[in-house]
Amino acid sequence: VHPRDSLVHALREGAAAHPERTALAYFDGRLSYRELDAFTDSVAARLAARGLAPGERLAVHLQNSPQYVLAVLGAWKAGAAVVPLNPMYKSAEVGHALRDSGAAALVCSDRAWESFLRATAADSPVRIVLTACERDLQSRDDPRVLGFERLPVPGDAEDLTETARAGLPDPGTAPPRPADTALISYTSGTSGTPKGAANTHGNLLYNAERQRVGLALPEGPRYFALAPLFHITGMVAQLCACLNSGGTLALAYRFEAGVVLDAFAEHRPAYTVGPATAFMALAAHPAASREHFASFASVSSGGAPLPPALVERFEAAFGPYLHNGYGLTECSAPCAHVPPGLRAPVDPVSGTLAVGVPGPDTVVRLLDPEGREVPLGEQGEIAVRGPQVVPGYWGRPEATAETFPDGELRTGDIGFMDAEGWLYVVDRKKDMINTSGFKVWPREVEDVLYTHPAVREAAVVGAPDGYRGETVRAYVSLRPGAEAGPEELSAYCAERLAAFKYPRQVEILRDLPKTTSGKILRRELRSRAQGG
Ligand code: ATP
Repeated sequence: VHPRDSLVHALREGAAAHPERTALAYFDGRLSYRELDAFTDSVAARLAARGLAPGERLAVHLQNSPQYVLAVLGAWKAGAAVVPLNPMYKSAEVGHALRDSGAAALVCSDRAWESFLRATAADSPVRIVLTACERDLQSRDDPRVLGFERLPVPGDAEDLTETARAGLPDPGTAPPRPADTALISYTSGTSGTPKGAANTHGNLLYNAERQRVGLALPEGPRYFALAPLFHITGMVAQLCACLNSGGTLALAYRFEAGVVLDAFAEHRPAYTVGPATAFMALAAHPAASREHFASFASVSSGGAPLPPALVERFEAAFGPYLHNGYGLTECSAPCAHVPPGLRAPVDPVSGTLAVGVPGPDTVVRLLDPEGREVPLGEQGEIAVRGPQVVPGYWGRPEATAETFPDGELRTGDIGFMDAEGWLYVVDRKKDMINTSGFKVWPREVEDVLYTHPAVREAAVVGAPDGYRGETVRAYVSLRPGAEAGPEELSAYCAERLAAFKYPRQVEILRDLPKTTSGKILRRELRSRAQGG
């Protein structure tokens, strides 16, 4: 139980308690708590004046920028729910999310609006559009943004404080309550049409508060937003957790290793969280040094598999130990994590790194295909019950009943738990490779590939095989300057894995395809493997 109802309350309290503390830092721009509170009042007032009613939805199509945060908090103050859109989405994906969520408002960059969103939104319920120049805070007088409402930017402070107060709807919109929908976050749809997980304010606040208590960082911690804000990890473990701790969130538009390292040097963050691929990219950057990571009190890797070899390599080269964390959009980011100060064990049989222990109010069960609990130590589907699990998918009672029977989330991940309560994620149920009737979990093979000194990224999929049904095929990218051929990598794995598990086919690519949230797109590699 926590004392607040929503992140809006956290912002108001922060603005009262430390008005001049920096809330957001963006390159050389800064917004204080006082400004953030006033600006978001202004956004809420503008939205209300344009007719956005409490309970309606506002979609956001932006990179990590102050405008992203203004749009989210402004929408929540107006009583609306936010629909985060991945800026990599193509027209069809954006259109689906806008129609499915019934979004009445859209916030996007002027460039995206002109290039395709105007046409996409024409066939949607969107009736209010706010555009922002995201990249250059100085370009607010850019004539391109005329004709649209623009979001306030730093420097507008004085007059906006006035307009904000004057323009607030009277009586003011009631602040959100824990059961109200805060986000409708679309899954990437690997298993059918993308569905919107409806995260409540209570879900978000719970995980933010658990993180604050767990990390126990000194008052007003400095966070760096490594993960994108449109992804649940970025939204909850960075933005929500930072605001809830009265911290400063540094943003850097989108992930570029060199820019991120510069931002570390400038903002000296105490905490960040991102996918393992982001840490691999940082580690591979020629300028990366221990000094860049010297300010961190804790670093987490979350939302995607973490190869144990990376943890070792990263710690040896740069200092921080990467704390694993496991979660899904459907449980509002983490539901299990490695507590600060502890190190995750590696399973001696499979070589898998534990993802952590379930949070204090969270119950994790491992189920067989009939939904019965498996004996301790055996593999089963991970099912999660807890205050961070969403009530369901937006507007989809059938999918909700299927994925959340009795309110318990069936994750689609296969895992096991050891006698000490550490949870291990083996792989996704749907990624299993079946070769001559043998089960192969791609991650086990990937973890072995990552121990090879030349390997930067690895992904394993099933390729069609006339004799075995499927055969194990690996896609690998190499570290800068390293050399290794397909035969060598295949033989390396054959020495360390059972004969049915090692990749008989290895293809070396310059880079592996990834989502903007940094996950390797196994889906894309699978279709590549099917084609050739
Ligand atoms: P979709 O489910 O539609 O394919 P997605 O993968 O982007 O979309 P997310 O909610 O972002 O959906 O990801 C959740 C999944 O990420 C989990 O189900 C799990 O497979 C994987 N995952 C998250 N954290 C970890 C971790 N620490 N170790 C291993 N796998 C993880």
